Order: sequence, then structure tokens, then C-alpha cells
Amino acid sequence: MSAPFLLTIGGEGMAADGAFPVIDPATGEPFATAPDASEAHLDLAVAAARAAFLSWRQVDTAARRAAMRAFADAIRAETEALAALLTREQGKPLTAARREVAVAADRIEGTAALDIGGGYLREGPQGPVRLDYVPMGVVGVIAPWNAPLILAMQMVAQALAAGNAVVVKPSPFTPLATLRLGEIAARALPAGLVNTLSGGDALGRWMTTHPGIDKIAFIGSTATGKKVMASAAATLKRVSLELGGNDAAIVLDDVDVAAVAPRLFASAFANSGQICMAVKRVYAQAAIADALAEALAAEARRVRLGNGFEPDVDLGPVQNRPQFDKVLAILQDARARGGRILAGGGALDRPGYFIAPTIVTGLTEGARLVDEEQFGPVLPILGFDIEEEAVARANATRFGLGASVWSGDQARAEAVARRLEAGTVWINGHGGATPDLPFGGFKESGIGRGMGVAGLRSYAEIRVVHGAH
Ligand code: NAD
Repeated sequence: MSAPFLLTIGGEGMAADGAFPVIDPATGEPFATAPDASEAHLDLAVAAARAAFLSWRQVDTAARRAAMRAFADAIRAETEALAALLTREQGKPLTAARREVAVAADRIEGTAALDIGGGYLREGPQGPVRLDYVPMGVVGVIAPWNAPLILAMQMVAQALAAGNAVVVKPSPFTPLATLRLGEIAARALPAGLVNTLSGGDALGRWMTTHPGIDKIAFIGSTATGKKVMASAAATLKRVSLELGGNDAAIVLDDVDVAAVAPRLFASAFANSGQICMAVKRVYAQAAIADALAEALAAEARRVRLGNGFEPDVDLGPVQNRPQFDKVLAILQDARARGGRILAGGGALDRPGYFIAPTIVTGLTEGARLVDEEQFGPVLPILGFDIEEEAVARANATRFGLGASVWSGDQARAEAVARRLEAGTVWINGHGGATPDLPFGGFKESGIGRGMGVAGLRSYAEIRVVHGAH
């Protein structure tokens, strides 16, 4: 952490006049400052990206892939420094932070390997008709704080693989590791291809209206996603929006509760519940509901919660103060509505934003914990009688990111899975995304898909050429 944190514009480090503090969520204290980019910095970054784009779009696929692989390798070479920074600013345990660096690098390499497609379609009056996927130009990448490196890099990777240049804005809660990635990109890739700017929400707004940005790739909350889409309409920027979720896991009465509980727990509580596709509601069939809730509570009591740098810690704090307050308010509402707390139940009596992993029963729809995205370590277990009812309740939400069904009977599980309104459905599992599979949401969980060939194509325009001899 010795070197100062700088913006990276056109391959060069650049200071800003303003700065803002970055808080360690394990202590609640600021530990570093990040440069606060101005509109003038954004103009410079967009101009640098545009210049880099004009060369990068001419680079053939093999050379693009090689450059992206070199970028991924350069990130892997700095795993320890990046992971330590990530644990400090985000709060996740060091082992999880190392994994995040590895996954971020893998997303770059995995995306580079995709084939965007296109080519000959059919004969037309002028001869052969061909479809080209054409890069858009400059992509503005706006990222959230829960998995800053993975999520920023998956958007960057798709933009670069499709032939674009990028301006990346990390969350103001977690800007630092991303700024370091900007420095690594400046060494590994042509100057200006990846520009990194830290700043507040206003910087995000400027990006969504900037005439030099052709597309906004956004991962964050549904509320902000709507603002991005409205604001991008003025210049008809393309948008891809990967937004919030309220994933239901439906657990049928023929499961082995002891085997399912630890897996379900991990899917709900990894990263302290701060994952878009975490299990956020469990619907358990009546015969096993009590046993499952008890087994999940036992898992919750076993968790080692602490500062991510402490050895053997399973979970870290909630990432920031507003989210900590929100999760506690949701828990308060659950109590007020008669929710029974089987494990956990509140904040730890120590500095930092620690909330004990909490299992709540006795709630129904109408409670905030059921209806909203809690994005924290508190999980409701809801009973149901027949599959029909579970499907209806799982689908009765404006979200539609992921969902799962757990059963010992494949046919029963598939019959439920086919009726779930979600962009990803897992059978006997929940969570996980890879660069080769499209990921995204139905309804207010997003617009478009990220990753997979479908995701890659959303970073390109389609040009149909008639007479393409
Ligand atoms: P957020 O919406 O508060 O912020 C995301 C980013 O948007 C930040 O960089 C922020 O500075 C910026 N921003 C804020 N206001 C803006 C505006 N008006 N215009 C442009 N940019 C603006 O989200 P968050 O709290 O950082 O992240 C948590 C949310 O992200 C959760 O809802 C989670 O489910 C979602 N998420 C979704 C996915 C997915 O793939 N679907 C993945 C991870 C997280």
C-alpha cells in the first residue's frame, strides 16, 4: 500500500485535486484515500480510450487474445498484494480475496477465448450476405463493491474481447484494488485501452451522459440501474444492466437435510451474503422445514466471523456502514413481524460492521427480509405445502436473477425448475458463474446478459453486409 493511489489515464498515473477516504469495514476506520476524479479527468480518459480503440479494433483476434492473456498473467503475478488490498477495503477473508484475484484473471482469459461469431448468412441480390460484429468504441464500466475485481474485470474483458476500449469506475467503497489493476493494465496492454477513475456516484452519472461513451456496462443495484438506463437514454447509449436479486431456493421434502444444509448455507452466506446470486429466501416443504431451519442454524453457530486477516476466518464484516444499517433495519422489521431468530440476531459488540450469521423463521411475504434484497448475512426460512405454492411464491417478486430447487428426485426437481422465472436455475446447487455461460436476470434483475457468447455480442453492433464477395 506504499505507493499512492492514482487514476490511470492513457497509460499514465494521474493525481486528482480531491480525494476521499476508504474505510476498512473490519474497523470502521479510514485507512487510505482515493483520488476523486473530476469531469475533466473523465474527458481525458474518454479521449485516451477513443484513441486506443482506433488501433485496438484493427488488432486481429489471435493478437487480442494474446494481449488479454498477458493481462491476466500480470494480474496473477500480483495476487498477494491485490488480495491484501481487497481484504482491507472489502472485508472478505484473505483466502476469498486470493480466490477473487484468480477468478478475475480467469474471467479475462475465459472471455478472450470466446468466439463472437458472425460470417456468411445467405445469398442475396448483390451476392453473399455477411454478418459482422463490430466494436462500439468506448465502454464505460461501472462496478459495485461486493466483488470489485471479478465484476469490473468481467465487463472489461467482454469490452476488450469485442474490440472496444474502456473507462472503468469502481465503487467509491472499494476503489483501491481496481486502481492497482489499472496500473497493471497500463503495463500489460496498449496505453489508453483500460483507464481507471475513482470517484463518487456523480462520476457514474457523468459517464452515463458523456457523449464520447458508446455503451454503459453496469453491475449494481436495481435502483441505480434504473437511473443509469434513464440517463443513458439521452444519448441512446447501449446499456447492459446486471442488477439485484432475491433468489429463492425451493427445498422439497425428499432431500437429505443433513447433506443439503451446509451447501445451502454456503450459497446464502458466502461473502457475508453480499452476492447477487446468493440464496436470499429458502422455501422448505413442511415435512422438513423445521429440521432444515435447525440444521442451517447449527451451521450459522459454527461460523468463525472476524477480520479477514485473522487466520481461519470464514466470514468478514458487511462491507459498508449504509449496508450494515440496512441489514439491521431489515432484521428489526423481521423481529417486529414475529420472526423467530434461531441463530445470530444482530451486530457484534466490536468495532467494524460485523453482523452474526442469522437464521429467521416464522415470517411470510410482506416482511422486508422476504420481499427485499437483504444483501447481508440474514436468511429467512419459509414453509410451504405443495410445489405449486412454492413456485408461485418464489416467482412473486420483481426480481428474477437466480433460483434453485433441491430434491432427491430429478423429475420432480425439473418440473419445478422449468417454472421458475430466473436467468439461472440450479438443481441441487445454487450459485456460480463462468465466462462461457450467459448470466443475468429476468424482470428487474437486469437488461441483457453478461458473459457467454450472448454477453460478448452485447458489446458489439451488428452490421449486415450485402454483396460481401
Ligand atoms: P449501487 O447501485 O449502489 O452502486 C453501483 C455503482 O454505481 C457504484 O460504482 C456507484 O458509485 C455507481 N452509481 C451510483 N449512482 C449512480 C448513478 N446515478 N449513475 C451511474 N452510476 C452510479 O450498487 P452496490 O451497492 O455497489 O452493489 C450491490 C448491488 O449490486 C446489489 O443489488 C447486488 O445484487 C448487485 N449486484 C448484481 C450483480 C449481477 O451480476 N447481477 C453482481 C453483483 C452485485
